[in-house]
Amino acid sequence: MISKFNFASLLIDWSDQNIRKLSWRYEKDPYKIWISEIMLQQTRTKHVESYYQKFLQKFPNIQSLAKSNIDSVLQAWEGMGYYSRARNLHNTAQIVVKEFGSKFPATPHELIQLPGIGEYTSAAIASFAFEYPIAAIDGNVIRIITRVFGLAIDVNNIYGKKTIREIANHCLGNCKSSLFNQAMMDLGAQVCISKYPKCDKCPFGKICIAAMNEITHELPLKKPKPKLKNRNLHYVIVKDSKSKGLIRKRISQDIWKGLYEPLLFETRTPKYLEEDQLKELICKEIKGRPGIVVTEKKRFTHLLTHQKLMVHFYKISVAKPLILKNNSGYLIQSLKNFENFAFPRIVRKYINF
Ligand code: SF4
Repeated sequence: MISKFNFASLLIDWSDQNIRKLSWRYEKDPYKIWISEIMLQQTRTKHVESYYQKFLQKFPNIQSLAKSNIDSVLQAWEGMGYYSRARNLHNTAQIVVKEFGSKFPATPHELIQLPGIGEYTSAAIASFAFEYPIAAIDGNVIRIITRVFGLAIDVNNIYGKKTIREIANHCLGNCKSSLFNQAMMDLGAQVCISKYPKCDKCPFGKICIAAMNEITHELPLKKPKPKLKNRNLHYVIVKDSKSKGLIRKRISQDIWKGLYEPLLFETRTPKYLEEDQLKELICKEIKGRPGIVVTEKKRFTHLLTHQKLMVHFYKISVAKPLILKNNSGYLIQSLKNFENFAFPRIVRKYINF
């Protein structure tokens, strides 16, 4: 087996020549590292770059994030998806301010207790900000370790995770953990990629078991894909005679919690609603029975991690001003004012009348 000294030194030598220039590279402020790491969960690096700076302009430190309104955090997050990350950021900021005197804890053990911070993120923050000696294990690291050491193990069970963690920490040895972890991420993102790894450009090319045996496509072992739940959503975007429409905040334990949406109806089958059905839906929320005109309808498939959504949109003009029924859960807002609310990305794309 490759010695820990060889592994880390080969990696760091490669990294010296190939480091990626990212906005958060060399950052030592745990707040900024935390923001970048949460953004990078499930989101591509390029996409994060544009959001990272804007988010920090709006919330430059943990205190500003903690005292902000959750709606403004969700709005700054709009377009990133996986909105539970934004809610956890807000929640964690309040805990760090109240319980840790606005100072981030410095150990993975303490960090992992905070909402939205898992094993990888706690190790990343502790190593990048505080040089805590720990390997941060993400998908990149799992790919490199299983391939270099030829490990055909299930990396999703406890035994597999423990094996990867032990080998990665063994490889880290006495190397500076921030350099080691950044180099592993860069190598996984640029060279040891999922499909067609660039073994000729890799510092481990001559010793990697998967490369030498031409089995890189087999490692790491693939986990079975989860079955997607199919849902059919119908968004009814109403415009009244004063250019106002109906929106509400999503409050149930479901996708997009905390974001806003137009009038919603969900069906079992992916079939457009008839005009009569649309009118009934609108009249459930407003007083009177004004005439409606369906000006446009479209539908799109939208994939989430565990759900496949068929999202139908209807644009509807109502000839009179909208007046809500007393028990309606919706708000009447000027269509122009919609830009001040956070909507799911697919809804934002289509909501402008
Ligand atoms: S040699 Fe190829 S498969 Fe092995 S770690 Fe490098 S890029 Fe990955």
